[in-house]
Amino acid sequence: MDTKFMLDMCKLSNVEKGKKITILGAGIAGLVAAYELEKLGHEVTIMEGSPRIGGRVWTHRFGNEKDAPYAELGAMRIPSSHNHTLHYVKEMGLSDKLCKFVTVFEEQNAFMNVEGNIFRMKDAPRLFQERYQGIYTDTRYSEQTRLFAAWLQTIVNTISPGNLRASLEQDLRSHLMDELERLDLSVYFSDEGETIDLQRFIKDNPGFRARCSKALDMFFGDILVETSHDLLQIKGGMEQLIWRLVESVKAEIHCNQQVTAIRVRENFVEIDWLENGESHTSISDYVVCTIPFSVLRKMELAGFDERKLASIKETIYCPATKVAFHTQQAFWEKQGIQGGASFSGEGVRQTYYPSVKFNPSHGSVMLASYTIGDDAERLGNMSEQERHNFVKNTVGKVHPELQTEGMIADVASIAWGNYKWSAGGCTVHWSDDMTDESNHTISYLEAARPQNNLFFAGEHCSKYPAWLQGSIESALEAIYDIVSKEPVSTSFIGLGNTKVKQAQLETSFVG
Ligand SMILES: Cc1cc2nc3c(=O)[nH]c(=O)nc-3n(C[C@H](O)[C@H](O)[C@H](O)COP(=O)(O)OP(=O)(O)OC[C@H]3O[C@@H](n4cnc5c(N)ncnc54)[C@H](O)[C@@H]3O)c2cc1C
Repeated sequence: MDTKFMLDMCKLSNVEKGKKITILGAGIAGLVAAYELEKLGHEVTIMEGSPRIGGRVWTHRFGNEKDAPYAELGAMRIPSSHNHTLHYVKEMGLSDKLCKFVTVFEEQNAFMNVEGNIFRMKDAPRLFQERYQGIYTDTRYSEQTRLFAAWLQTIVNTISPGNLRASLEQDLRSHLMDELERLDLSVYFSDEGETIDLQRFIKDNPGFRARCSKALDMFFGDILVETSHDLLQIKGGMEQLIWRLVESVKAEIHCNQQVTAIRVRENFVEIDWLENGESHTSISDYVVCTIPFSVLRKMELAGFDERKLASIKETIYCPATKVAFHTQQAFWEKQGIQGGASFSGEGVRQTYYPSVKFNPSHGSVMLASYTIGDDAERLGNMSEQERHNFVKNTVGKVHPELQTEGMIADVASIAWGNYKWSAGGCTVHWSDDMTDESNHTISYLEAARPQNNLFFAGEHCSKYPAWLQGSIESALEAIYDIVSKEPVSTSFIGLGNTKVKQAQLETSFVG
């Protein structure tokens, strides 16, 4: 839905201004909610558990200089179809910083490391065919079908978690090769015949996707976005979007206020929180909770209905781990690599090169490893030092330059699965369990469903999980629900650290 349309709806439905609203979490969803609610005339307070604002938007800078090279430890690219994200990029005056993000498979000079064999991306499918044999060399199928299948497997191997890699191979073996054989694939090969246009293929052949296993079909949706040729980035770092939002809200953002319990009452919400080791309780007319369910499910929750509790408990989170190297030089440029990503081998998966130019006097940055799923978990279970050494040694096979003394000036890494404030990378709408028949595609509606005056937003509450777009859309939807809700009369009195709404206390605490 169009961002402006959603905001206009909020304005129309807003009969009464001046509601007092507490937002839990200062990630993109919380900040967008604060920004729009204030614009509609409401009073907002933000409680953030961690010492840092931004949540899963985290630009790590290697140095204090203004033009220091940086790595995105969280969100790094914006699909040009993500209208809500781009709306706020524009609204925050950052449009002139948008530039192309060169993604996986766009830089054909990038490398692949398959079981110790290192080759350029453009040579991958033919080498795959030879290596894996089986269906890829089965002469019952045309050369084109076999090459196409090998490309498909290459793409899935590079991007997806382990279960889906196996799932594609199974699907190919059982029926997808026959399906491919029926299609005219020639139009999807590049002129040199080395790469395939997966975007066009999937758009032209919905029947192919429909015949994939459910989990794989959903993952294809992600692959299409990740390999699209019109991804954008914010030059200078995604965190600029966060900081501009922070500058644009009047609300105080209280960092280090860790929410520990939420109790939903009839007309208000009671929140327990910890600050500097001391616990406090506060009461709010309305609350927007953007805390990930992976964190929420460990808290005391009262006044929630059973279905809601089940959604909080069962929403699936996929781990994600990133390891970035600050390098003395952008040595990969000498090898003709100007961005995009290599597949650096099992356990490390994608290595991204910057597609913005850094000031060479400060060195450069490679996102040496970006993993999700089982690979991310494995890296997350290592100590930081072990993880950094493992990534250095593995990527070092593709890029021996990394082993040169002093080439790696610094390292930054995060295992989002272990990160206290999200306990996971992002939610997934596909289940790990292929036999699980529950429909994860609609569970976001349950995740977003309010409980009296407690509203929910965040990527987990949206149909675009794992994207800023989803976090923002869910925030706009929560705002609509709040402003449409009949107001309750308020009169606050302060009780030390505890703000208690007298009238409601008298009526609601009875019994
Ligand atoms: C590795 C990775 C790569 C990604 N890449 C992209 C990308 O390229 N493009 C894109 O669009 N999206 C990407 N995403 C997704 C995007 O980053 C998220 O969808 C988005 O940032 C989530 O925002 P949010 O506000 O929903 O949640 P969060 O950013 O997680 O915000 C929740 C906030 O709640 C706070 N909190 C948690 N617990 C408590 C508590 N007990 N008390 C108080 N506060 C608490 C957290 O500290 C946090 O600040 C990526 C995500 C990851 C992890």
